[in-house]
Amino acid sequence: MNTSPHCETSADRAWVNTALALLEQEATRSADTHLLRLDFPGFPDITFYFKDESVHPTGSLKHRLARSLYLYALCNGRLRPGQTVVDASSGSTAISEAWFARLLGLQFIAVMPACTAPQKIQAVQELGGTCDLVDDPTQVHARAAAHAANGACHLDQFGLAERATDWRGNNNIAESILGQLRREPQPEPSWIVCGAGTGGTSATIGRYLRYRRLSTRLCVAEPTGSGYVHGWRTRDRNAVASQATRIEGIGRPKVEPGFLFEVVDAVAEVDDAASIAAALQLEELLGTRYGGSSGTNFVACLQLATAMRARGEAGSIVTLLCDRGKRYQQTLFDPAWRSAHGLDLTPWQGALQTALATGTLTPPD
Ligand SMILES: *Cc1c(COP(=O)(O)O)cnc(C)c1O
Repeated sequence: MNTSPHCETSADRAWVNTALALLEQEATRSADTHLLRLDFPGFPDITFYFKDESVHPTGSLKHRLARSLYLYALCNGRLRPGQTVVDASSGSTAISEAWFARLLGLQFIAVMPACTAPQKIQAVQELGGTCDLVDDPTQVHARAAAHAANGACHLDQFGLAERATDWRGNNNIAESILGQLRREPQPEPSWIVCGAGTGGTSATIGRYLRYRRLSTRLCVAEPTGSGYVHGWRTRDRNAVASQATRIEGIGRPKVEPGFLFEVVDAVAEVDDAASIAAALQLEELLGTRYGGSSGTNFVACLQLATAMRARGEAGSIVTLLCDRGKRYQQTLFDPAWRSAHGLDLTPWQGALQTALATGTLTPPD
């Protein structure tokens, strides 16, 4: 029999089995996330649904991704007992990955730009993770790769999100949404709206809609001028953003490998002030504060609904509430921070309220 220093021993394999069992137990203990329904007087023929991904134990849709990335690494034989785990993330992914590392008894390193919000660094540290801060934000991937060259397992959210999730089902987010709609008056939505960071969520939903032969179309809601906005329009994988965004989790400066142009039917552009105003509007409607990208999604829903109503179409629109608003208390939801960053919500707050009442979203000028 041939063996190499990298050959898996039976003890290694037993550990992999234990780790997989721990992940399976965690998934079994977890409940599905709610699909909340809202109706607005301005859109009597359109029903809106919001998939509340903030209720995961780690507070965002990255809980699903982190679980999938660990499963993928384990089942590919890339994650061994005692191995340190690393990923480049300045946000929700690092928090979810640190949480699962603790569950599996592994060391976790989050490679982050040095300018990352202190409360996020603290959240990773509280879960037992280490933050490796890099001065130049463009160097985070290289630094994560350097940790991997030293023996760490690179979870690689941007490289692997699109393939780590079971796109044909297994309770992925698309299967869950469509199952939860099955007793609704419009169980086959006209649109599903989501943001794109890694592109994993849009890839999973887009593939699943085709697989199930549904007429539902997929709209990606993005900050104005993001890399994906330009890339999708021109089908250029080298496209870059024409402006930066304050909305975290989406609005990548470039087109990441996991963003699949072909499964996306529309890309909606949303200004940052509109996203924040919409997040506050959601808080008023649902009694819970969600993050900026949930607001971006809501604005895109209202853009689509305005067009549907103008064409006399009836139907339903589904979107995601991606994370909790608490993480942005000192930024997006602090009026002083907003005015320091030139973000005036007032015109958008008026436009959104008018839209809910009249069925037409008109951007303020
Ligand atoms: C990651 C993220 C998204 C986008 O999801 P992807 O599956 O990575 O494309 C949207 N909102 C928030 C808050 C996120 O953290």
